[in-house]
Amino acid sequence: MAIKPIQFVPNPVLRKSALPVENITDKTLQLLDDMAETMYDAPGIGLAGPQIGELKRLIVMDCSRDDEKSELWQMINPEVIELSEDNSTLEEGCLSIPGHTAEVSRPDWIKLRFTDIKGKEQQIKAEGLLAACIQHEIDHLDGILFIDHISKLKRDIIWRKVLKEARQT
Ligand code: ZN
Repeated sequence: MAIKPIQFVPNPVLRKSALPVENITDKTLQLLDDMAETMYDAPGIGLAGPQIGELKRLIVMDCSRDDEKSELWQMINPEVIELSEDNSTLEEGCLSIPGHTAEVSRPDWIKLRFTDIKGKEQQIKAEGLLAACIQHEIDHLDGILFIDHISKLKRDIIWRKVLKEARQT
């Protein structure tokens, strides 16, 4: 396994759409393991392919709390198939936008289809933090960031700071 460099805004790779994975090869599985290691190292609770410059529909997550057993999800071609009508709001951050968080409102629960690392198609219903995390990561596969879900005013404030920080590094 290897820790990969995380790409930060305003890197344009974060605004591109990732392509579906047609064949699950050893390289795909290696990448998913590298993504998990990179996420745990950061540390973060989710990471999507584009965040390490890989435009592939791959996401990893572990939303377990510190006092819980770790629960690693590694998903290939995840796809939301049903969304709740009710929304809930959680504070979100992003490894690609370090140092910034915002309250984001998203559907409460989702039903999801994905291929697991054994190549098996799975369907799950997720709620709470895991549901928010999955939606955040799938957004990354379509070039969408959590700041796109907040008011323009709040987004502009974060964006101005991001650009200033980017100039300083
Ligand atoms: Zn993110």
